[in-house]
Amino acid sequence: MFFVKGILLTNNIAVAIINEVDIYMMKINIIEANENLGSPISFEFVSNAQELDAVHENYSFDGDIIVKGEFVATGRGYRVSGQISCTKSFVCDRCLEQSSQQQVHDFDEAYQRRGQGYAEDDQDVNYFDGEQVDISPMIRDVLLSDQPLNNICNADCRGLCLKCGANLNHGDCGCDRTVIDPRLAALQQLLIKK
Ligand SMILES: [Zn+2]
Ligand SMILES: [Zn+2]
Repeated sequence: MFFVKGILLTNNIAVAIINEVDIYMMKINIIEANENLGSPISFEFVSNAQELDAVHENYSFDGDIIVKGEFVATGRGYRVSGQISCTKSFVCDRCLEQSSQQQVHDFDEAYQRRGQGYAEDDQDVNYFDGEQVDISPMIRDVLLSDQPLNNICNADCRGLCLKCGANLNHGDCGCDRTVIDPRLAALQQLLIKK
């Protein structure tokens, strides 16, 4: 069973628990923000990869995904910003060892209520209906798009020996891994024959 701890904080005092019924979502009520135009309202959500559907074939997010941020009504719309903290597990592309990494991803997004009369076709704006903003699709997108192309355990990872397959992070295997350019190799042969 999953349980969303969605708590709205105002001046660091918990004032409202957001809709515990709405599991799988990170919903922020706009009413309080509207009443406090320009004043950021802090929030914190605890979720996980399964709830967020943040699934990828090359890695996974283990345990809690914590989302902390602020929500503010700007008058023309809403702004939501903050950080996502998570633990990513993967197999290193270079040494093939299982590895995990603590990550923090920043987000800063504009939201607008659909049909409010402002630029509806603005691609930089996320639209919502009603009085609640579900930020979970945006959080999922940030989490997945903010990943590096390669999963490397450590920037200094030495990878595997191309000859014997030993993990070079555990020490040198002693193989001669000098790669000679084939053209140079041909020249070398010529020189030997002479
Ligand atoms: Zn590695
Ligand atoms: Zn080797």
